[in-house]
Amino acid sequence: MPSSTQERSPAHALITGGSGFIGSHLAEALIARGDRVTVLDDLSTGRLEHLAGVSGHPAFRFVQGSINDAELVGRLTAEADIVYHLAAAVGVQLIVENPLRVIETNVLGGHTVLEAASRHGRKVLVASTSEVYGKATKVPFHEDDDRVEGSTSKSRWSYATSKAVDEFLALAYHKQAGLPVVIFRLFNTVGPRQTGQYGMVVPRFVQQALRGEQLTVYGDGQQSRCFCDVADAIGAIVGLADSPDAVGRVFNVGSQNEVTIRGLAERVIRLVAETRGEEVDVESRIRAVPYEQAYGEGYEDMRRRVPDTSRIRAAIGWEPRISLDETLRRVIAYYDGSASARRPDADATESPASEGKSPSRRRRAA
Ligand code: UDP
Repeated sequence: MPSSTQERSPAHALITGGSGFIGSHLAEALIARGDRVTVLDDLSTGRLEHLAGVSGHPAFRFVQGSINDAELVGRLTAEADIVYHLAAAVGVQLIVENPLRVIETNVLGGHTVLEAASRHGRKVLVASTSEVYGKATKVPFHEDDDRVEGSTSKSRWSYATSKAVDEFLALAYHKQAGLPVVIFRLFNTVGPRQTGQYGMVVPRFVQQALRGEQLTVYGDGQQSRCFCDVADAIGAIVGLADSPDAVGRVFNVGSQNEVTIRGLAERVIRLVAETRGEEVDVESRIRAVPYEQAYGEGYEDMRRRVPDTSRIRAAIGWEPRISLDETLRRVIAYYDGSASARRPDADATESPASEGKSPSRRRRAA
């Protein structure tokens, strides 16, 4: 982490989307280091309970509202020193069923936030996603690589496109209005509080394993991902916020340790068995599910998704430290013994009957 974290004076941060998985961890980290935090969230996908650790803190404030409410966004931005813009419409189910909402939230909402920041001269950290690389196959993905997006007739690509527009807007405000912006592209980020409701694989596998169900591995399971612990990702975001050198630039944030999805399933099964002191026959606990059944016809999965992280390492000396097994243990502990089976977001593990009825897949975002 940069030395500036020790020298800086406390700031008042506005976090849009602060009751989501990543936003709530960010709120905790900022409060812990002495900042004041205002969370703006419409609670459409975020949850107030995610903020239980900070909600009573005198330096914390929650405001329920929309990033499309220009008057509210303007007022909260004026009161803050820095804006972390994490609010976004995510989830392919939502994207496919309600593409208008994706565009309204991500593009128009993003514009509202950036316009307010520009008007009040506030630095903005903009959350983007590895999804902007689209179907690119050349890994690792470097920030300046070409994007390979699918047809506009497939509304799932509206998500990647909407976040790319956010990036263009942020960079344009930087170039034309001198707005200090930093864009971070989150790759697969995992940890406690992440819901499997929109398809995210780690919470789905953990909850399936804890319930003694088979883990649903889509396709041949040889597709791979790199999973970064949310605590590491927060370190990156905060480090970028503190770094004057990061302004006007785009950064990948993610792990480079690749694991196949089948390998992930095996690890989760073994770790849950270990937690419970049980013997387990790993093979019998995995169920292969064809993509068409999981996401509907014509779905395109990414075979590999690996970030090139040399830019952020050079800029702020960041690299992830937490191992996947450690993260998985924390996610297991989060769901185990909790009321996970009764939690509203515990429906991560959809019943086999629900698979194939509608695509249920969250895309990368805050
Ligand atoms: N996946 C899976 N079983 C599940 C959920 C997801 O095999 O129950 C796969 C999915 O097809 C993809 C990988 O896990 O290949 C990661 O999916 P996720 O939606 O978490 O992230 P993304 O595809 O956006 O990287």
